Amino acid sequence: MLTLQCPYCGVMAEETELSAGGEAHLKRFGPGSSDADFETYMFMRENPKGVHFERWRHANGCGKWFHAARCTVTLEVFGTYTAQTSVPPAELLETIRAARPGFKWREFE
Ligand SMILES: [Zn+2]
Repeated sequence: MLTLQCPYCGVMAEETELSAGGEAHLKRFGPGSSDADFETYMFMRENPKGVHFERWRHANGCGKWFHAARCTVTLEVFGTYTAQTSVPPAELLETIRAARPGFKWREFE
């Protein structure tokens, strides 16, 4: 079972306490953007086999949204962090690179 630590209340929450919110760090495009940018925002997702950045909500806890970095193959969790950031914390990226040499994900290479 997936267990993530909520970065707000510190609880180690089991998957049943959480609600998945899809991919983290999407660049949003709205009115006035090009059709290609809007299409990318609406439909294009990474869906990697490996490290992925995701949005989760501590639905049956404090109710707040946060981000998690985990491996989609092994379910290894590299860390969680607040949702009020546009990029993952540098120390988390270093942890991932140490565990997975050659790790690449969008602009966080
Ligand atoms: Zn919480």
